[in-house]
Amino acid sequence: MSTLKKLKLPAWIFIGMLLGIVVGLVCMYTMADGGAFTTAYLKPVGTIYINLLKFLVVPVVLTSIVSGVVSLGDVKRMGSIGWKTVVYYLATTAIAIVIGLIFASAAKTIGIFPEAETLTLEEYTRPETKGIMEVLVGIFPDNMWKSFSDASMLQVIVVALFLGTGILAAGDAGKKFGDVMESAYAVVMKVMGFVIALTPIGVFCLMADVVAVNGPEIVGSLLIVIGVAYLAYIVHFVVCYGVSASALSKVGFIKFVKGIWPAMVVAFTTTSSNATLPINTECSNKMGADPEVSSFVLPLGATINMDGTAIYMGVATVFIASFYGINLTLGQMAMVVVTAILASIGTAGVSGAGMIMLAMVLESVGLPVEGIGLIYGVDKLFDMGRTTLNIVGDSTCALYMSRLDAKRAARLSGGKK
Ligand code: ASP
Repeated sequence: MSTLKKLKLPAWIFIGMLLGIVVGLVCMYTMADGGAFTTAYLKPVGTIYINLLKFLVVPVVLTSIVSGVVSLGDVKRMGSIGWKTVVYYLATTAIAIVIGLIFASAAKTIGIFPEAETLTLEEYTRPETKGIMEVLVGIFPDNMWKSFSDASMLQVIVVALFLGTGILAAGDAGKKFGDVMESAYAVVMKVMGFVIALTPIGVFCLMADVVAVNGPEIVGSLLIVIGVAYLAYIVHFVVCYGVSASALSKVGFIKFVKGIWPAMVVAFTTTSSNATLPINTECSNKMGADPEVSSFVLPLGATINMDGTAIYMGVATVFIASFYGINLTLGQMAMVVVTAILASIGTAGVSGAGMIMLAMVLESVGLPVEGIGLIYGVDKLFDMGRTTLNIVGDSTCALYMSRLDAKRAARLSGGKK
């Protein structure tokens, strides 16, 4: 009993996940419709947990960025972190999509993708998507409150940056408002701690339901395609984030993996970068990210940095092309790289959003959007891996930017580093 008491939250989260898998399997194999049982009785508890995380996202992002800007104190420092963050995010996403394309093309070339006859093309109607200019305009809110109530993250980030800069510009007159936001941030972080403590229960319920509903049968002939995506996820994780954690941020890869995995489990089970933001912030800060830096880098990453989604788009595009008997040319592959970067940026940090944006990539190379019907049924399984990778990428950036920011501070204060 005393050993149980000594276990830390990450261990409990891991236990929650394992128990969830076991209970999911037991329900699946011992009940006539185990999936219906877990969906009726366990999933709602998981949904409560996700809702609690989600309700925190807007307050966390708003108060953390405002107080981050205020305590960063100078707009130059913000700018310096800002552009480096965007370059880092774009570069890692480009690497991700190239890895995805290489793995999928190799799988296609050696002929391990399932034969077209063994696949079922479910009906897929594409939901309405926006054009690029519309997306750009949509980043700037016409109503601050609406951006909060819609939890439209890029808009919330814009509002927070303006408010923070306004507080700084107002000088003494703005100080009280700045203090209120800082105090609100402290309160929100406490509430976040309460919700994060519920993670083992949330993870247990969500995992049991995923396993019981998506039994092995559903994977069927798509096992190889899912396997190829996961292989590419893992390679990107080890190579790209390995280099980043050890060489760029000097945290060390093993220490990084140990520090980030509670957030990975939450991403894996909730399939939402937004919902994972609170725990990702906590894990990254514990590993040494500067809270002032991560409060800006992580919410931005949860919204625009989606390396896992980019890999998924590459793999899915090559797979769908191969189903229709089409060989993508090098030029088309380059097109996929560009559109997948844009589509992944446009993907919201919520469950299933990447599949909707996949349509944009398919269209860019003239593939039928209905091809999404091939993988529609198992998207959740792709999503679990891609969301996990998405949030890990954000964390590596927060650590690296914190290091760069510390170096910059040392340089400015005259010390050599
Ligand atoms: N679920 C992913 C995320 O939240 C987005 C996607 O569907 O690709 O990061």
